[in-house]
Amino acid sequence: MASVLVFLDVPDLPLPRAARELLTLAGSIGEPVVAAARRPDPELLAAFASYGAGKVYEPAGELDGVLVAAKAGFLAAAATAEQPAAILLGNSFEDREIAGRTGIKLSSGVVTDAVAVAPDLAVTKSVLAGSYTSTCRVQSGTPIITVKANSIEPAPEQEGAPAPELVELPVPEPGPAARVTSRTGKRVSGRPELSEARVIVAGGRGVEGNFGPVEELADLLGGAVGASRAATDAGWIEHSAQVGQTGKTVSPQLYISVGISGAIQQKAGMQTAKVIVAVNKDADAPVFEIADFGVVGDLFSVLPQAAEEIRKRRS
Ligand SMILES: Cc1cc2nc3c(=O)[nH]c(=O)nc-3n(C[C@H](O)[C@H](O)[C@H](O)COP(=O)(O)OP(=O)(O)OC[C@H]3O[C@@H](n4cnc5c(N)ncnc54)[C@H](O)[C@@H]3O)c2cc1C
Repeated sequence: MASVLVFLDVPDLPLPRAARELLTLAGSIGEPVVAAARRPDPELLAAFASYGAGKVYEPAGELDGVLVAAKAGFLAAAATAEQPAAILLGNSFEDREIAGRTGIKLSSGVVTDAVAVAPDLAVTKSVLAGSYTSTCRVQSGTPIITVKANSIEPAPEQEGAPAPELVELPVPEPGPAARVTSRTGKRVSGRPELSEARVIVAGGRGVEGNFGPVEELADLLGGAVGASRAATDAGWIEHSAQVGQTGKTVSPQLYISVGISGAIQQKAGMQTAKVIVAVNKDADAPVFEIADFGVVGDLFSVLPQAAEEIRKRRS
């Protein structure tokens, strides 16, 4: 059976859901092989093995100091050594850039925003701001596919899988690339990562600077907090929370849109959510065109009632 190379930049355990999804998808196409951007410790190796990885490529040196160039060089080197049937990555900005650079190095076609990949490597992806779903196939080289989080149900871990073969690859010299000179840790919110969250509660201009009710509902549902560009541009919440064409693309099980009109650029980032609930005081707001459930009302009255009801049902 041909191998499928999965690029993973996982610092430590637990294995994020997005990584488990990629390994599960790889296992449905062929034999999963991991190209790990960081040298994995034995526990992480065991976690890769529990999702079917029989081989792991690791870099001989540090890849973090030169942004994505070195990671793309490493992934291309792993692909050249492995000759896989396909290469899978996540769909973050960084993963997509690595995919593009690797595609150039390997003269291979790249498909982004995939939501499914069939065993014959036909890729289903959402296009035109999420308005259409298309099926496509890479025509040249090894298909390189970036897969949206929450597209696949991760398989359960297999216990007692043998340790994978570890193959060290030299890190290619990236040439005159931008280098990282310092890092500042991100403030930890305790909430799930936006692009991987299964539940997102997002607020827009309608929250008028008060994200309190949005955060309260998100926390009750164990979800992440998102925002429209109007809210991030106003400085009410950090830019990393922006969902949309120029923000993050998300595909959660549940997206609760609160005080967001539903402009095409916002829809572009959330239209593939499985269930969309919209709360807006304007019954003609465009968001209701794509909502599965809509509540016409003032968010400052609707959200606290929803939170209260959830608490009541849990007690
Ligand atoms: C090139 C480009 C890229 C862009 N990229 C993005 C992007 O990535 N993401 C993005 O979101 N936007 C993006 N935009 C901006 C986009 O066009 C909209 O301007 C933006 O999404 C509007 O944000 P909003 O819905 O929060 O605000 P508004 O359009 O002002 O809507 C606010 C909504 O809140 C409702 N509301 C007000 N008060 C309440 C209340 N008390 N209770 C309930 N509802 C209430 C109103 O009825 C209204 O529908 C982009 C624009 C351009 C040109």
